[in-house]
Amino acid sequence: MRAAPHTRRVHIVGAGLAGLAAAIKLAASGRSVVVHEAAPQAGGRCRSYFDVELGCRIDNGNHLLLAGNSAALDYLRRTGGQATIEGPLEAAFPFIDAATKERWTLWPNRGAVPWWICMSARRVPDSRASDYVAALALQRADPSATVATVLNPNRSLFRRLWEPLAVAALNTGVEQASAALFWNILRETLGRGGAACRPLLPRLGLSETFVEPALARLRTHGAEIRFGARLRTLEFAATRVAKLVFDTCSISLGSGDGVILAVPATIAARLVPALSVPDRFSPIVNAHFRCNSPEGAPFFVAVVNGAAEWIFRKPQVLSVTVSAADRFIDLPAPELCEVFWRDVALAYRLPANPAPPARVVKERRATFLASPEQLKRRPGPVTAWSNLLLAGDYIATGLPATIEGAIRSGFTAAQLLVDPSRGPSIDQGCSDRSPGFITEAEQEQHRTFHE
Ligand SMILES: Cc1cc2nc3c(=O)[nH]c(=O)nc-3n(C[C@H](O)[C@H](O)[C@H](O)COP(=O)(O)OP(=O)(O)OC[C@H]3O[C@@H](n4cnc5c(N)ncnc54)[C@H](O)[C@@H]3O)c2cc1C
Repeated sequence: MRAAPHTRRVHIVGAGLAGLAAAIKLAASGRSVVVHEAAPQAGGRCRSYFDVELGCRIDNGNHLLLAGNSAALDYLRRTGGQATIEGPLEAAFPFIDAATKERWTLWPNRGAVPWWICMSARRVPDSRASDYVAALALQRADPSATVATVLNPNRSLFRRLWEPLAVAALNTGVEQASAALFWNILRETLGRGGAACRPLLPRLGLSETFVEPALARLRTHGAEIRFGARLRTLEFAATRVAKLVFDTCSISLGSGDGVILAVPATIAARLVPALSVPDRFSPIVNAHFRCNSPEGAPFFVAVVNGAAEWIFRKPQVLSVTVSAADRFIDLPAPELCEVFWRDVALAYRLPANPAPPARVVKERRATFLASPEQLKRRPGPVTAWSNLLLAGDYIATGLPATIEGAIRSGFTAAQLLVDPSRGPSIDQGCSDRSPGFITEAEQEQHRTFHE
C-alpha cells in the first residue's frame, strides 16, 4: 500500500529494532516512511551474519524473548516474523551449578498465583517459598537502591536465581543494578505467571526473525529504505528540524514532515543539543562453538558458579552469553574459549576435549549500565523540537536495554507522530521516569506539531 501523495513524510534515522518498529507502525497506518541507516544492513545490535571462519551464520549476541514481551510479539505479528520463533512449550528454565554439578529446572506454573514456589520440584534446590516472597521488597525499593542492597546476597536463592536473572536482564552486576528496574522486569514476567515467562527464540537467527520480515513488510507498504546513509547533522530552524544532513546528501523537511531519531544514545547526544543520555555502558561477551547439539538437547541452559552464564542451542552452534562481562572483555579469545567450553561440555554432556572451532564476539558497549544514576539520564521520546522524536533502548521506557524496550520506544514514537493526544502506549506504570513515560507538558509541546 503506497502512501497518498499528500501524506506527511516521516524520516526514521536508524534501522535497529526501535527504528524498524516505528517504521512498521507508521507504514501500516499509510504514512510515507523513509528509513535511513548508516550501516549496509539493518538490525543494529540485534542481527545475524555469516561468519566465514566458522562457516555458518551466527547472531551478534544471543537474545532471549519471553511470551510476556507484548510489544515484541506485536511487532513480530505485524512483520510476519512470528512464524520464525520457537521455544519450549512451558516456562521451564534448566539450570546447572558448574561447581557442584547439580541440575534443576525452574518451572513456574502458568497462572499468576505462584503456587510453584511451594513445590520443591519446580523451584531452586535449597530454597523456601518465603525466599521468593522476600523478593517483594524490590517493589518498595528506593530509586537509588541496587539489587544487592535490597535482596539478601547470602541466600542461596540470590546466587542461584535472582543474580543470574538480574545480570541477564539488566546487563549490569547486582552491586550496581537498579532494584526498581529489576522489579519492573519481574513484575512483567514471573509476576504474571509461567504463561508470560515462556522462552521464545529465533529458530534460525536474529535477522531472520526480527529484521528480514520487517524489511520485506516495509517494502510492501512502499517504504523507502536507504542503507549507507549516515546522518551527520540535524539543522534546526526555530522550533523545528529543518534539514537532515547525510554524508552524501541533504534532505530539507516539508512543513508536515517528522523525524524519529532511532540511533544509539551516544550518537543521539551528538546530534541533538543538550540531550541527556546514559553515558556508562556495559559489555556482553558471546562465544559461538561450531558443533551440533546432542539429540533432544534443551534450547538453553543457565549456568551458575561457572564462567558461562547462559548457553543457547542454535542450528550448528552452541553459543555462550556472559552479561556485565567486564571480567572477560580484555581476555584473549583462546583463553575465553577454553573456560567457556568447559561449561558447555558440562551443561550439554559433551566431551571436554577437544573444544570445537569457535568465534568470540565482544560487544564492549552492548547496553547502557542499568544503575540508578544512569537511569536518571534517560530522556523521554519528546524533544524541544516539535517534529523530532526519539526512539531507542536508552529512552525512559521503564525497561532495561532490551528488544522489548527498543520496540516499545519505537511504537511510542510512531504513535506520538500519528496521534499525540493518545500519549504513550508503552508506560505501564513501570517507569524509571515517573509518573509516566512522557510528561503532559511534553505531550502538549508535541501536539503543536500536529495542529
Ligand atoms: C550482545 C548483545 C546481547 C543482547 N541480548 C539481549 C537479550 O537477550 N534480550 C534482549 O531483549 N535484548 C538484548 N540485547 C539488547 C538489544 O539488542 C538492544 O536493546 C536493541 O537491539 C537496541 O535496539 P535499538 O534500535 O535501540 O538500537 P540499535 O540496535 O543500536 O540501532 C541503532 C541503529 O542506528 C544506526 N545508526 C547509528 N548512527 C547512525 C547515523 N548517524 N545515521 C543513521 N543510522 C545510524 C546503527 O547502525 C543501528 O542500526 C543485547 C544486545 C547485545 C549487543
